[in-house]
Amino acid sequence: MMRCDFCGRNQREVDLLIPGLNGYICNECAEKASEIAKEYLNKIGDSMLSEIDIKSLPKPTEIKEYLDQYVIGQDSAKKYLSVAVYNHYKRLSQDKDDVDIEKSNIIIVGPTGTGKTLLAKTIAKLLKVPFAIVDATVLTEAGYVGEDIESLLVRLLQACDYNVKEAERGIVFIDEIDKIARKSDNPSITRDVSGEGVQQGLLKLLEGSVVNVPPQGGRKHPEQKMIPVDTKNILFICGGAFEGIERKIALRLNTHVVGYGAGNHVSKTDREKLLHYVAPQDLRSYGLIPEIIGRLPVVTNLEPLDRDALRRILVEPKNAIVRQYEKLLGMDGIKFSVKDDALDYIVDKAIEYKLGARGLRSIFETIMMDLMYNAPASKMKKFELTAKYAQEQLESSNFSAIASTI
Ligand code: ADP
Repeated sequence: MMRCDFCGRNQREVDLLIPGLNGYICNECAEKASEIAKEYLNKIGDSMLSEIDIKSLPKPTEIKEYLDQYVIGQDSAKKYLSVAVYNHYKRLSQDKDDVDIEKSNIIIVGPTGTGKTLLAKTIAKLLKVPFAIVDATVLTEAGYVGEDIESLLVRLLQACDYNVKEAERGIVFIDEIDKIARKSDNPSITRDVSGEGVQQGLLKLLEGSVVNVPPQGGRKHPEQKMIPVDTKNILFICGGAFEGIERKIALRLNTHVVGYGAGNHVSKTDREKLLHYVAPQDLRSYGLIPEIIGRLPVVTNLEPLDRDALRRILVEPKNAIVRQYEKLLGMDGIKFSVKDDALDYIVDKAIEYKLGARGLRSIFETIMMDLMYNAPASKMKKFELTAKYAQEQLESSNFSAIASTI
């Protein structure tokens, strides 16, 4: 009778026997072996925590060049991010008894769909430390059905297979941070479930402390085994749309200008350009508590995407949608190209439906649907997308009906 060569139990006593070259292992022994291996590898991982060699790292200018391949515009945010990441490495490789380089968490303010997440994802590909993108909105109902603040670190742990030491050197991108802003301007109104309490919790993470992370995320359960994680060296990058913050900026700039008699340059400032001037005070007026702002010393912004930027997004990035379709159709032996007027048309529609960059892809896909359906079985050798064709396709689809849901 077949037996497990590790515990000696026979076929009937176990659920499964897995055959090897010279014997068998049962499912339970396999599981145990896997746990032992994981523990061992984690230990090795700890001792091997890769020494970061500053000389071999991409320099800030190189990091930005890399970002340029995927993200259009947003120069200022790219620069800040590149420097922050580079400094993060430096901090990790510094001598213990040297000058203590403090971390500079970042906050990026910018309208939705202008590339915050894209920037974060792109930089992640380049990083030599664990990286996770998390969403602050899951926390908004904390105390009700939301998640505890510590759960933000679960993703980071997952990103490095629960190797705590690695996670403690990682970078976390917290999106939609504006959603935990205090809703009321009056700080004396303390019953604000979604705002201040969550911010206080987040402060703990940003400041650097040992927090107990529930390994599976979600709410903490008393019987659950927690993983202590020290956040001292974790770099936090926060992003948020902060809708309407322009008003706070305008207000501050105007009073400032009047107060110092510095001439009225603000009134001339294009509303959209106001975001350039975003400063910590504005985040405070928006409802972030001062302690949080103090822990996010670097404030930068993303530009709204204008017509030109949208057009470039269609064709320029390494994985631009037009390039993707060239490739897809190329596999069917069809040479695909897009006329300038078609690009203009698609950009117009994205603006008309107020979809911004996010809409470009769905509009493009809608237009291409029929072609992608019919072309592979046809004898077509090339196809040029014109504005006329694009318009026909979009108008015959139910795009306008679904546009509001994108
Ligand atoms: P958000 O700022 O809301 O996080 P995203 O980064 O998710 O926006 O952008 C949505 C999509 O729009 C991206 O997946 C990308 O295709 C496109 N996009 C937005 N901004 C840019 C940009 N600056 N350069 C290239 N593509 C962009």
